[in-house]
Amino acid sequence: MIVTLSETAAILASAQRVVITAHENPDGDAIGSSLGLMHMLRSLGKEACVLLDDDIPAIFSVLPGYDIIRRPDEKEPVEADLLVVLDTSTDRTGCTLAAVKAEHLLNIDHHQTNDNSAEYTYVAPGRAATAEIIYDLTRELPVKLTKDMAMCIYTGLATDSGFFRFSNTTSHTMRAAAEMLDHGVTPNVISEALEQKPYQTVRDIGEAIEMAELFADGHAAGIFLDEATTARMKSTESFIGMIRVIEGVDIAVVMKAKEKELCRVSMRSKGIDVSKIALQFGGGGHTRAAGCTLLMPFEDAKRTICEAISKAIWENK
Ligand code: AMP
Ligand code: MN
Ligand code: MN
Repeated sequence: MIVTLSETAAILASAQRVVITAHENPDGDAIGSSLGLMHMLRSLGKEACVLLDDDIPAIFSVLPGYDIIRRPDEKEPVEADLLVVLDTSTDRTGCTLAAVKAEHLLNIDHHQTNDNSAEYTYVAPGRAATAEIIYDLTRELPVKLTKDMAMCIYTGLATDSGFFRFSNTTSHTMRAAAEMLDHGVTPNVISEALEQKPYQTVRDIGEAIEMAELFADGHAAGIFLDEATTARMKSTESFIGMIRVIEGVDIAVVMKAKEKELCRVSMRSKGIDVSKIALQFGGGGHTRAAGCTLLMPFEDAKRTICEAISKAIWENK
């Protein structure tokens, strides 16, 4: 059932024990919006915790509350009044739904592809980040912003908007960020922490750039990592940004074979709706940033995604 922002605030206000979760393979928005909401609810005197069914990249240790994020455990279910799923539909949350016995389920998201499968869903595709919705909620509830909340919300805003450069950045995004600065955020502290990479990761970026391929007559660029390469490379997050800047490229794709028949795909575009391509394969996302998982061997997955991208490019000509 779709709810409004004020109904979302009322659902949060009426719960005492709240568990917050977000998508697997969590990014700055998933972690920032989760911790931001946790600090906000705690400041209202509620019991709130964050459970994420994945590893949390160490770069996010700059965020207050990073150390208390836990993994859900199906064998020891947690009881709560409310489970809040952030930054995804309820499906990409690992075992969290099974590990939390909650009376109510609320989903807060900014993806246009949200499937509205939760008991209560609030989706705002016009917001650059789920953290921007958490900011909106601080204005619906009697919350006094703290530096802890501000650092987490700022991180979600900054990471999902490419540090306020992507097309999803609005004046509202920047006003929200400005308010976070008023509450103690130092932008360089966040960006320097998030930009840090181990030496080996920087070398891996070089190797990945060497592997970049152009297709669809130069309108698309891809980096395709087989299972052995994926296993060897610890962090591949920055690869896609390296190839989306190639002149003439409309769609950039990075595909990683995580298992023998499981390949994870990330896409970025300069305007063509890549969420539609992702949806064809059960994924989702935004017009200019989307992803999906292909349950097929590396070569088949590579051919399948390249064909789908090429088709979308020709249809757009
Ligand atoms: P990424 O390329 O992983 O940074 O993801 C780009 C966007 O697509 C993000 O907003 C993700 O939440 C979304 N996305 C990525 N993979 C999937 C998927 N398998 N299902 C739904 N949405 C996805
Ligand atoms: Mn996300
Ligand atoms: Mn997001």
